[in-house]
Amino acid sequence: MKIAAIHAREINMQLIAPFETSFGVTHHRRILLLEVCSEDGASGWGEVTAAEGPFYNSETTDTAWIVLRNFLAPLLVGKTIETPEETLHYMAPVRGHEMAKAGLECAVWDLMAKCQSTSLSQLLGGTRAEISSGVSLGIHEDIGKLLDRIAQELAAGYQRVKLKIKPGKDVEVVSAVRNRFPDIALTVDANSAYRLTDTALLKKLDAFNLTYIEQPLEWNEIYQHSKLQRQLETRICLDECIHNLRDAQAAIELGACKVINIKLGRVCGHAAARKMQDYCMGHGVPVWSGGMLEAGVGRAHNIAMSSLPGFVLPGDVSASKRYWEEDIIVPPVEVSAQGTIRVPDSPGIGFEVNKRRVEKLTVREEEWTATRSAGGVPVGAS
Ligand SMILES: [Mg+2]
Repeated sequence: MKIAAIHAREINMQLIAPFETSFGVTHHRRILLLEVCSEDGASGWGEVTAAEGPFYNSETTDTAWIVLRNFLAPLLVGKTIETPEETLHYMAPVRGHEMAKAGLECAVWDLMAKCQSTSLSQLLGGTRAEISSGVSLGIHEDIGKLLDRIAQELAAGYQRVKLKIKPGKDVEVVSAVRNRFPDIALTVDANSAYRLTDTALLKKLDAFNLTYIEQPLEWNEIYQHSKLQRQLETRICLDECIHNLRDAQAAIELGACKVINIKLGRVCGHAAARKMQDYCMGHGVPVWSGGMLEAGVGRAHNIAMSSLPGFVLPGDVSASKRYWEEDIIVPPVEVSAQGTIRVPDSPGIGFEVNKRRVEKLTVREEEWTATRSAGGVPVGAS
């Protein structure tokens, strides 16, 4: 299959409600969508999960656009691809920029699945017909409002609740939630807001029977987490500092975590995510799919990934309506009363991209081809 063109669009979407983590509040999203087109007119969709600012990792919507336009697209257009795994091979000269790469890699997987008239889940080797869904709740100023919100989410069927925490919004909040909901599956995510010197405080969280505590220490640090894990009863789940299979191997061998959150964007896409979940499964380490406030295309890719056998804990993939007035895919992602999402069995990601909606939300778009690359620079020149 020859890659003929890449159609890039930036869409702007307003979140239904602001989402606060330890590094800031998000009100609206600037999302890059990539449509990879084959020579015979088929196309696959990917979503770049970089945020607007370099606060979760070093990538942003704007850095991804530049790297894609000037470096990654020229490496891919005009190439003939037999298997989706080859996509990363072509992009290998570019170091880092995992989320930009993942946007293209995921689009190629969707395209390949459609060309083979199979679902993306099936092409990946997924074994689940439905996945378990949890919710991730941002930091709330008012504990009463947070408790009400949790009650609503549980009534909607969600199987686990993840609370974002930061210094000053941790033990007291978790204690209140655990008191009100003694039996729910409860986790916390610190997004790197603590240091090893906070160990005594973090140990207090052992009292609340958390499924895990996510990324308490520095975003790029594995070794310090191994020191902390030895002192905590609660399992540590790593997110920000795991970028590939080697990081997962190092973290598990060092005893830095007992759970891993796999995000497609952070690990360069489906091929790497599949290898990581396989390794983790072999080492008794459960994994789950974390969210990046994705629109429908990213959400659909997360659903397919979560159908792989190593994804044994409920993920962050939840209903479209929790985030968006109207999603960009049809049908929107829906969650059952039992807190599950059905894995589509139709070709590719299994959802239609609503082009009318995408066009309405688009603020810039470009098409990158082998003969007409960005800025008039011949593709071969890169
Ligand atoms: Mg996280």
